[in-house]
Amino acid sequence: MTSMLSAAGIRGILLDIEGTVTPISFVHEVLFPYARARVSDYLAAHFEGAEVMSDLARLREEHAFDVREGREPPPLLDASSEAAIDSFVSYIFWLMDRDRKSPGLKSLQGKIWEQGYANGTLTAPLYADVLPAIKKARVAGLKIAIFSSGSVFAQRLLFAHSDAGDITKLIDQHFDTSTGPKTASESYGRISLAMDLAAAEILFISDVVSELDAACTAGMQTLLCVRPGNPAQSDGKHAGIENFDRLPEII
Ligand SMILES: [Mg+2]
Repeated sequence: MTSMLSAAGIRGILLDIEGTVTPISFVHEVLFPYARARVSDYLAAHFEGAEVMSDLARLREEHAFDVREGREPPPLLDASSEAAIDSFVSYIFWLMDRDRKSPGLKSLQGKIWEQGYANGTLTAPLYADVLPAIKKARVAGLKIAIFSSGSVFAQRLLFAHSDAGDITKLIDQHFDTSTGPKTASESYGRISLAMDLAAAEILFISDVVSELDAACTAGMQTLLCVRPGNPAQSDGKHAGIENFDRLPEII
């Protein structure tokens, strides 16, 4: 099965973030270390806050599950608030080291990044070809949506603080893994419904072949984005692009 692009009929573009509109290194070498370095201070400053309490409650549930599964996570302690914070930090590092897609962890990271974006320490680098292509697609009447494993909150922060400025108004919809895994075709069916477009009217662009395969199974059109620094993808079934310069011609 080869994914063919039909020049006509595309009414929406669904974009991945990491490796497609921003370098993978921004997430792994900037965002993740930023949150890791600040999580202890953040918890100490916000430990009694309702929102942080709810993140920690979710982490406690996940911890109990890890214990039941015999994964031997570092213990959670509650002898004092200092001991509790230190033990949560150890568990959070343990989750980060496993690249766990944990809702409690993601929520906490989002709050820490929010501070960094707000005080100007963090700025999201967009590939220079992204904004012009999005603008042209919108002029052509296309809907623009995002599907990323980062939370919708983190996605909005990123596009609000990009090196091209706040471009949140150019994006119609955001989807994260609460819609479903990026490698499950059902997720793309749900996105198609939510975008109010037939799957075949949506062009999904990502750097990961297994995600494109799932979108293709759901009936979407696909493009493999090959950016510098992306891991090599061996599958040849999806048409490839190295940047968005030709996108306005394709659509
Ligand atoms: Mg990606």
